[in-house]
Amino acid sequence: MRILVISDIHANYTAFETVLKDAQGMWDYVWCLGDVVGYGPDPNDCVEKLRELPHLCLAGNHDWAALDRLDIRTFNPDARRAVDWTRETLTSDNTHWLEALPVTFVIGDYTLAHASPREPIWEYILETKTASDNFPHFETPYCLVGHTHQPVIYEQVTEYDTTATRPNYGKQRHLNGRRQIINPGSVGQPRDTDPRAAYALLDFEKNIWEHRRVPYDVSSVQRRMRQYRMPERLIARLEMGM
Ligand code: ZN
Repeated sequence: MRILVISDIHANYTAFETVLKDAQGMWDYVWCLGDVVGYGPDPNDCVEKLRELPHLCLAGNHDWAALDRLDIRTFNPDARRAVDWTRETLTSDNTHWLEALPVTFVIGDYTLAHASPREPIWEYILETKTASDNFPHFETPYCLVGHTHQPVIYEQVTEYDTTATRPNYGKQRHLNGRRQIINPGSVGQPRDTDPRAAYALLDFEKNIWEHRRVPYDVSSVQRRMRQYRMPERLIARLEMGM
């Protein structure tokens, strides 16, 4: 089975559509690691598109915020405004779909979580120390996470030594049995200074992973965000990949 691994679409339908086109014919099933909505202008379109595909989807912190399951006082004011707008805009059918999403999932050699296996909704794995602390919190060889919007592979070399490898886009990597925490990056709001949409392909049986990047029409998303009077900082960050 070939898996399209995506995360953090963040209501950016243009980026999502572009990823689906770029990966066309290369996958059988979608794994989505959460944050389908929040920040972007197209929450319903993104949820509805994903629901049409054979998929497994987890809940992320922004999905929970849209469901009023989180205290959003910890969000910055721009993110809070986006949450309010998303709540008002989501159809009740799509809200119910978000409500039913699981927080973690284990399938074959893979544990899936939005943020981290230790704290599936909240924790940011941004460096090797946090990655290292998370290895005891899952049982399978590999764990897939999103949340930071930065593609990376953390590999446990020894109990005390974890390495971080930046992606080699378009190059297949055979997962060698060593324990790894892998982030495919963000479809709809990359934060690694590369504005291109990020995603990955996985051969589930052969354990072959491939990080990929594809440019999309950022300005058309920004136009919709301006039309809905979304915060300017959220609009500007898309073209910077920040
Ligand atoms: Zn996110």
